[in-house]
Amino acid sequence: MIKMAVNYELIAKKMGVIWSEEIEKILKALYTPEESKILLLFSGPYMDRLTAAKIAKELKRPIEKIEPILEEMARTQRIFSAKGGDETTYSLFPLLPGLFELYFANHERALKEEEEVLKIFTEEYEKYFNKGLVSINSNSAYPMMRVFVDQEVIEDTVGRGKGKLVDVNQEVEMVKNDILPFEQAKLYIEQARRISVMDCACRIHMKFHNEGVPVNEYPINVCMNFNTWADYDIEQGFGRELTKEEALKTLTAAAKAGLVHTTQNITEKSMFICNCDRDCCVMLRGIRQFNNPNAVASSNFLPEYERDDCVFCEKCTELCPMYAMELIDGESENKRIEINIDRCIGCGVCAFNCQNEAITMVKKFAKIPAENMREAAIRNIKGKIN
Ligand code: SF4
Ligand code: SF4
Ligand code: SF4
Repeated sequence: MIKMAVNYELIAKKMGVIWSEEIEKILKALYTPEESKILLLFSGPYMDRLTAAKIAKELKRPIEKIEPILEEMARTQRIFSAKGGDETTYSLFPLLPGLFELYFANHERALKEEEEVLKIFTEEYEKYFNKGLVSINSNSAYPMMRVFVDQEVIEDTVGRGKGKLVDVNQEVEMVKNDILPFEQAKLYIEQARRISVMDCACRIHMKFHNEGVPVNEYPINVCMNFNTWADYDIEQGFGRELTKEEALKTLTAAAKAGLVHTTQNITEKSMFICNCDRDCCVMLRGIRQFNNPNAVASSNFLPEYERDDCVFCEKCTELCPMYAMELIDGESENKRIEINIDRCIGCGVCAFNCQNEAITMVKKFAKIPAENMREAAIRNIKGKIN
């Protein structure tokens, strides 16, 4: 029998990543030729959900041979699986957010079962990132992820009469001051069927890259998944189920630690909420290291600073993930905090952590995300800046 070479470049294209020697090494380490042929059946990340029967038919192989391969790929985070009734479907992961996040979130499995593969993924990914290829890949006028402001900060804004919460079923008249459902973390949590928390892949990845030494002291077990994503990581044993109350507490703890809430750039139910730090997060690093403002969409809010309420404790300058805040004229009567709005991503970490209520997050923009992932992917491709 003549063995056909696997087209790893086409797999990368389907996953939506720029081809490079690092990606080739990662894909070759992760996927056997047999598994790669399965990936080639998909048109793009999350675009199609195929059953084992369909995959077996396409490959002209018996289902008894294909099903265990798919189950093993799902168990080892090489493919996404979702159960609906009696049926399990499989989808292709994008590299980000998808394969990278779930693979490194289940680092204990990877370390125990395939240390060499984990090492290749860690080091080749870091090289790929440092070449600026993740940044180029994500440089679209429509980023796939967006920042959002913590619920407590939003409620503080409302309490100060600077915005009003709009419920899911309410009609919107003026977008500017209305705080829409997709801007309210509480609604994500309330509407979720199931919620889980897992380890943050970016911090774990950097820890492996750093030979086991954590890069910072930010909390790690704060990445939240919803519904089918929560089903997946709970069933695969690396996600822990959360009650709605625990989920809200997790978000608050993350904001208190100076982490930035991010999620899919859509208005429909998102599959996850990330809590990102400035040193390890592939998006926040992308903004700072490669000056790529499109690594993640900023929120519709900007901070308003009230000098009279400020006690110049510098908590905000210390925590701002974009290093956008600075104490000016610290020794003089005119001392004040200056905010570089061009660098600000509207995360509200400064407002959350200001003990003296000197900062309010105020809605300044009216960007409305795409409704769902398919629409977001189309807008993302159309908006590519390369
Ligand atoms: S840093 Fe952010 S994007 Fe990266 S895995 Fe952690 S929570 Fe998710
Ligand atoms: S955290 Fe608040 S009080 Fe402290 S310096 Fe910043 S704005 Fe002023
Ligand atoms: S100034 Fe910094 S902490 Fe405050 S909203 Fe902007 S980026 Fe976030």
